[in-house]
Amino acid sequence: MADSKRVDDLATLNVLDEDTILKQLEVRYKKDLIYTYIGDILLAVNPYREITIYTDELSSKYVNLKYRRSMRPHIFAIADNAYHQMKQTGVNQCCVISGESGAGKTESAKFIVQQIVRHSETHQRGIQEKILQVNPLLEAFGNAQTVMNNNSSRFGKFIELQFTVDGKVLGASITEYLLEKSRVIFQGAGERNFHMFYYMFAGLNDKKLRKYYLSTPEKHRILNGGRSQHSIYTSDEDFRHCQQKYNELKSLLITVGFTVEDALTMWVLLAAILHLGDLEFEFDYDLDGAYVSDERKLQVVSTLLKVDPVELAAALISTTHITRGEEITVLKNVEQANDGRDALVKALYGRLFSWIVNQINDMLAPREGYRGETRCNIGILDIFGFENFKHNSFEQLCINVTNEQLQYYFNQSIFAWEQSEYANEGINMQEIQFQNNMKLLELFMARPIGILSLLDEESKFPQATDDTLVQKLNERCSRNSYYIAASGVYRGAIFGIRHYASQVVYNAAGFLEKNRDTLHQNIVDAMSDSDNSFIREIFSTNFKGSSAQHNVSSKDRKAILLCAKQPKLRPGGNEKQRTMSRKKTDPKQPMTVASYFKESLTDLMDKILSAEPQFIRCIKPNHTKQPNRFDREVVLNQLRCTGVLETTRIRRLGYAVRLSFADFLRSYKFLHFPLSANIAPNAVNCYQLIQSTGLTEWQVGKSKPNDKLCSYDDKLLLLQALEA
Ligand code: ATP
Ligand code: MG
Repeated sequence: MADSKRVDDLATLNVLDEDTILKQLEVRYKKDLIYTYIGDILLAVNPYREITIYTDELSSKYVNLKYRRSMRPHIFAIADNAYHQMKQTGVNQCCVISGESGAGKTESAKFIVQQIVRHSETHQRGIQEKILQVNPLLEAFGNAQTVMNNNSSRFGKFIELQFTVDGKVLGASITEYLLEKSRVIFQGAGERNFHMFYYMFAGLNDKKLRKYYLSTPEKHRILNGGRSQHSIYTSDEDFRHCQQKYNELKSLLITVGFTVEDALTMWVLLAAILHLGDLEFEFDYDLDGAYVSDERKLQVVSTLLKVDPVELAAALISTTHITRGEEITVLKNVEQANDGRDALVKALYGRLFSWIVNQINDMLAPREGYRGETRCNIGILDIFGFENFKHNSFEQLCINVTNEQLQYYFNQSIFAWEQSEYANEGINMQEIQFQNNMKLLELFMARPIGILSLLDEESKFPQATDDTLVQKLNERCSRNSYYIAASGVYRGAIFGIRHYASQVVYNAAGFLEKNRDTLHQNIVDAMSDSDNSFIREIFSTNFKGSSAQHNVSSKDRKAILLCAKQPKLRPGGNEKQRTMSRKKTDPKQPMTVASYFKESLTDLMDKILSAEPQFIRCIKPNHTKQPNRFDREVVLNQLRCTGVLETTRIRRLGYAVRLSFADFLRSYKFLHFPLSANIAPNAVNCYQLIQSTGLTEWQVGKSKPNDKLCSYDDKLLLLQALEA
């Protein structure tokens, strides 16, 4: 019994080399023990099959756990712990889930929300159900099949569950990050567009499809991947699965609070996106510009979007500038017209997604009457994992920077906090070295010579190209040892970065355009003139969402120099906290994707830093999405990259269990003092109590009057004494 308890936590292993840890994880995995602790961190190895550890019965057993370690490690225990910490201390909690694509982050996030929401009370009937039901909705529109994961999240999300001070659920809010809009236009080999398109074609009958001028999905450029002769469904089973998903979704939309009209508007928009993606242009040598080659298609798109076809066509084939008070219209060539069309497709999909998130947030917001209640919250961060493909573009860069930022936070939390805490408590600990990726973050975030700032600078020059961007990066960044300038045969618009997880080669082709993410004013104007109020709304200047950055007045936004910021240290931390320097962006400049990204990452970090973290590290057992296959190399690489091995070492060296004087005395008072005695929660009394037990290897902290440290083994002995 004692043995199995000890192995539940890798921090208690006697031998701590890579091999032992790996063996432990493998043995546990084979017994379906997919969860393992390392001190306070939870490791979750993806089983790639359903295992019976999420039953209602088991879920209840993890509610109100007196001693987390009296039960097997579980994601439910983390959820319960976050909830109780919040309730007891009033401090916001944050569950930071990380791992590669396909490692199980989204599933873990769902289990956390489910466990917390199911077992807490509420003033508002139905809110729990709603909170649980938004996930399939978000996944339908924001997830897609990739080579890494059949249900890969193509956006990051931060869910905040809001509570009254006494722990009753008030509502929730969702923040989305960087939806991968380019997927609507193009999908790599073996990948798909967003799930919703497949659900729609499987779910709508022919008559309904005709209403949207749809028939065969394979006909549409953005769905067929250039292979119109192949079905978009991989099998009959796949088709049936999509059909079932569509039906589920239809009823979910209503339960969550969308109207039937909302749903119809969504299908109209999806259909418009499909048809718009099929618009083609040809070059007219007389006019010296592109024109729409198939007017029928243009008519269909205009009918669906309720815009004037002439205005739409004009917006797609020309741009208008005002020079010295004079309006000048320039016709586009075919390539430029194609780009404008694709930009509109992406904008429509991105804004639809942001609109859905905004609606969900309205529906999950605390009701009138409860809005003023003092609130605590639990944030759950499920952000895209580190990516390293054959071809890595701007999207991968943003994703990987986010992961670097989270890794930095993890390092800081686990290592720096650990050390500063020991120092503050006056407890002897040897200096522990850890990998610090600060310099790497600076490489991206520093102003004015960080990669993102340089990208912004270059994006302002109309003559700049992706090649000139890379030249600039090579000139300014090469001194940073994490930057790799391409040389020899690799010259061109590419550069490399030594990320914490691995070395990544980025291809800068398209970086400038993706960063500018420009939607020409004529196109915005054409959409704003629509007779469809929904279209007008998502193109209005008030519309907010990650896909509508150019509509938001940049003067209202703050740009924060992220790298100058350190996580807040716990009280008494001895590291100097640097001041954040905030700089207003130039109000005349439209906001670029890079600056919007920096800003939302900063907002996210602000939220996380004001909360107490719970870390969940998800691990993929193999790269083939197979159950019962534990590939040691694959796992080892993830353990190394995420600092898990380091964590084990530091936890083992230190004291894994820390209790406040009050908590400690509340639990163990009876071992030494009369039960009826009123024992003050102070160091002296704790000292007396522990000494009376004859335990060794414990220490009492000094500078923090409410904290007391004792080793995990001591805690186990105390538990055994308690149980006896
Ligand atoms: P991405 O970064 O691509 O979004 P992810 O880390 O969010 O990846 P998930 O979508 O959560 O990965 O998991 C991938 C798949 O692995 C799931 O669709 C599911 O099939 C399986 N899986 C993950 N966790 C579990 C679990 N606890 N039990 C059973 N299957 C799981
Ligand atoms: Mg996911």
